[in-house]
Amino acid sequence: MNVLVINCGSSSLKYQLINSESEAVLAKGLCERIGIDGVLTYQKAGLDKEVTEAAMPTHKEAIKLVLDALVNDKTGAIASLEEVGAVGHRIVHGGEKFASSAVITDEMLATVEECNELAPLHNPANLIGINACKDLMPGVPMVGVFDTAFHQTMPEKAYLYGLPHEYYEKYGVRRYGFHGTSHSFVSKHMADFLGMDINNSKIIVAHLGNGSSISAVLNGKCVDTSMGLTPLEGLPMGTRSGDIDPAIMEFIAKKEDLDIAGVMNVLNKKSGVLGISKVSSDFRDLEDGMAEGNKLCEAAIEVFSYKVAKYIGSYVAAMNGVDAIAFTAGVGENAPIVREKVMGYLGYLGIAVDAEANSKRGKDLVISTPDSKVKVCIIPTNEELAIARETVALV
Ligand code: ADP
Repeated sequence: MNVLVINCGSSSLKYQLINSESEAVLAKGLCERIGIDGVLTYQKAGLDKEVTEAAMPTHKEAIKLVLDALVNDKTGAIASLEEVGAVGHRIVHGGEKFASSAVITDEMLATVEECNELAPLHNPANLIGINACKDLMPGVPMVGVFDTAFHQTMPEKAYLYGLPHEYYEKYGVRRYGFHGTSHSFVSKHMADFLGMDINNSKIIVAHLGNGSSISAVLNGKCVDTSMGLTPLEGLPMGTRSGDIDPAIMEFIAKKEDLDIAGVMNVLNKKSGVLGISKVSSDFRDLEDGMAEGNKLCEAAIEVFSYKVAKYIGSYVAAMNGVDAIAFTAGVGENAPIVREKVMGYLGYLGIAVDAEANSKRGKDLVISTPDSKVKVCIIPTNEELAIARETVALV
């Protein structure tokens, strides 16, 4: 079966057409500037990328353009839309309502809408994409795959904040966690790759990208994760602050004459490694800066790596041990310097690094030495494939 995987943002839409038997990507691309003007990127497997400007007043026109491109006479990946057996949609927030993926029905969508308040920037965009697909592909089964679902197994002690309990009761204020599709995929895949029994395993996944989060996975189930009510908590990220003393918000608001929205904008868009380095949110730029002697670029990489190591240490405590650690996502897969610095803090766990293996990037690889007490791996994430698999399993 061919599965169309859709990941809708507020003004963008990423897509992949995946054959579920071979797990090959038949075509992929994205729509950008939806609601502004519109740019479609389309790439059939084995061919060059095509970039076209085309009006996309709403997500519906964007999806129509994607479907047209998929069946285009010259570079289409399929002959007709009948060859799309199902659509898998990424949905950011499922609150406590969804502990796993779910087939999309009117009732299911109404439940997703109840979670909109928890992710006001993301969930409404996800729903627009789903409704557009329903209009354009009536009768094709669709599945929603939630970023939060994998983390729903966290125990109360991990998800409750030290806040008045009534905020949890009235508003659902608790830790939810994100990147769940990636944490689930990578933990399972690493267990397979290492020949471990996932039902008897202690795994830590470090998903380090532009947004970063870490999870503790005990016997295949998430028991803790670093992102919280929103994706702002946890590690310092490309532009997000991660954990800070909450009192900093009032202090900065007064000093800089900002309201709550102004402070949130700073914490979401101007902080993290961008804020520390004053140079960039991209680790490639930070590495270049560091090589040129820029001390703030070096500080940004140090702060990030130190915090990753501290989270790993805390999750070793949460699980009373660890068997294997996975590095994944843009930074985790491609930045040997970050992995080296993180593992430099973990000698007490009996971790020893294979420097030669750690200099590589981007493929399943063990980067610890054979005698290391904990296995450390690079495991490239593949959220689209994970969504396609979930979709096939449910339809
Ligand atoms: P997201 O999905 O959160 O947007 P990714 O997981 O794709 O992010 O990660 C993107 C980040 O990965 C970039 O901002 C950059 O910091 C980092 N990155 C990508 N390639 C490299 C590389 N070759 N070396 C170092 N860092 C890289």
